[in-house]
Amino acid sequence: EQPGRVIAHFGHSLEVAPADGGATTRCHLRANLEGLVTGDRVIWRAGEDGSGVVVAREPRDTVLERPDARGRLKPVAAGIDQILIVFAVEPEPHANLIDRYLVAAEATGIPPVLVLNKIDLLPDEGGELRSLLDRYATLGYPVVTTTTATRTGLEALQRQLKGRTSVFVGQSGVGKSSLIDRLLPDEELRIGALSEDSRKGTHTTTTARLYRFPGSAPPDSALGEDDSGGELIDSPGIREFGLAHLDADQIADGFIEFRDYLGRCRFRDCRHRAEPGCALLAAVERGEIHADRFASYRRIVDSLEET
Ligand code: GDP
Ligand code: ZN
Repeated sequence: EQPGRVIAHFGHSLEVAPADGGATTRCHLRANLEGLVTGDRVIWRAGEDGSGVVVAREPRDTVLERPDARGRLKPVAAGIDQILIVFAVEPEPHANLIDRYLVAAEATGIPPVLVLNKIDLLPDEGGELRSLLDRYATLGYPVVTTTTATRTGLEALQRQLKGRTSVFVGQSGVGKSSLIDRLLPDEELRIGALSEDSRKGTHTTTTARLYRFPGSAPPDSALGEDDSGGELIDSPGIREFGLAHLDADQIADGFIEFRDYLGRCRFRDCRHRAEPGCALLAAVERGEIHADRFASYRRIVDSLEET
């Protein structure tokens, strides 16, 4: 028996990669092991016919969930270390949109990283976008700027990906596919495309797949995690990751600089609108919370109340 990681799953079988980075193996599941998802760390055993059996799942540290057709949350991937929120110089991002992604990420417990792509289109002075980024950096979020137009534009991103399992989320058109195409070896892209094709003929919904960025050592190997290039879990569904199913309390909690003040309002059920003794409003008044972030919070809560 040996440790491995779920690379992809197809109905009743799984593709598992051994922890030493060798070739993947098609595995069956023990009957009592329902609901494994891409990224799960498992214990498996090689069989004689070249296939294998997954015998156990290791405890999950993180899990990403999406609503299914009936609106119930279902895990789609596990073992994710960071959510890369990709936005671009063009289409120009609104702060509120970035905040929405951050709130959704905070609700998963998986640390977000902001990636500003297409910096080749950024005017020299950078203007408002630079000060927007500074605001998020001040809040403690890692911010990486990239461009697929040059190789050097990708190095900072590669450093951020190293030794970790990541997902890329963000609006369409910001350059997620372009970044991934540049970062993954052709071989990985080809395998992903093949498995995508093989699934199109079936009724299996598109599930997530785990890809390996090139690095000097396989992940989880004795050489240490730091020498792996990192891993990517990707699917169209994951890229569309959004704000659904959060309530007002979770939204307030997703604004990390609000956390010091939550629970300090005079009224326990304070909605932070016009209540006397609201600790959040007072913090905005004193300039400890940026007025734009507070307005953004309001807008998100309002938009959820409308639906
Ligand atoms: P996705 O929808 O997020 O996957 O975005 P794509 O990767 O499909 O990219 C959308 C468009 O932006 C394409 O026309 C890309 O060629 C272009 N693009 C991607 N990255 C960059 C970049 O760094 N700079 C510039 N100028 N264009 C880019
Ligand atoms: Zn309040």
